[in-house]
Amino acid sequence: MRVSFWGTGTSVGIPMIGCSCGTCVSDDVRDQRTRASIMIEFDGHSVLVDTSTDFRIQALRCRLHKLDAIFYTHAHADHIFGLDDIRPLNIKHGPIPCFCTPETLERLKEIFSYAFVDRKSYGGLPWVTPHLFDGEFEFAGQRFLPLKTLHGEGITTAYRFDGVAYLTDCSAIPAKTLDALWDLDVLILDALRLKPHPTHLTLEQALAYVEVLRPRRTYLTHISHEIRHEEISRGLPPGVELAYDGLQFEI
Ligand SMILES: [Zn+2]
Ligand SMILES: [Zn+2]
Ligand SMILES: [Zn+2]
Repeated sequence: MRVSFWGTGTSVGIPMIGCSCGTCVSDDVRDQRTRASIMIEFDGHSVLVDTSTDFRIQALRCRLHKLDAIFYTHAHADHIFGLDDIRPLNIKHGPIPCFCTPETLERLKEIFSYAFVDRKSYGGLPWVTPHLFDGEFEFAGQRFLPLKTLHGEGITTAYRFDGVAYLTDCSAIPAKTLDALWDLDVLILDALRLKPHPTHLTLEQALAYVEVLRPRRTYLTHISHEIRHEEISRGLPPGVELAYDGLQFEI
């Protein structure tokens, strides 16, 4: 199984429009972060977690030809607004199954009602077939465990698959979810910035969860411009790294 970071930035993307801070003007490509999503590839199948606002450019960058499924974490704009750009894949391969919670589906249908219309063939519109889950589910022979995390007042779906867990956009991890995150090979966790934030973990809070869960490796994601890759990386404990766009690992 291979996991690739398609995007590791917070909702505004880095560089941020109109900002000339050290990170936003940095020459280090690891400081240039598109909106957050990951690609999971296994046994010839590909599952994308979230269609970020930057989906089109991310798909071109990775030379995407086919997508077997989309899993959604939640329906915030930065995680869904690339949905319209799946159309070239629909032309070739028909509808794409989309897995999410009923709450996320409701929100997706409000914004992209035209993507969910029943039809027999591609008609110039994005085309997905919704699949709701209630607990662990299987896709293409692989088990996926959806888990709830808190995102301020809202809820985000995290996914565990084998020894990997992806927790983007969270401000706290409920006890029940923590219980399902033991013995991880790789934890991917939200670490927005240094200052507190109502809907995201700070770097310090993320590292506190790492201390508790003790995964073998951790990648931090959904990163704002407060975090300059090289500078912050130097102070991270062993086994913890900042993710960056294009980073991949195999498991
Ligand atoms: Zn986000
Ligand atoms: Zn900046
Ligand atoms: Zn969000």
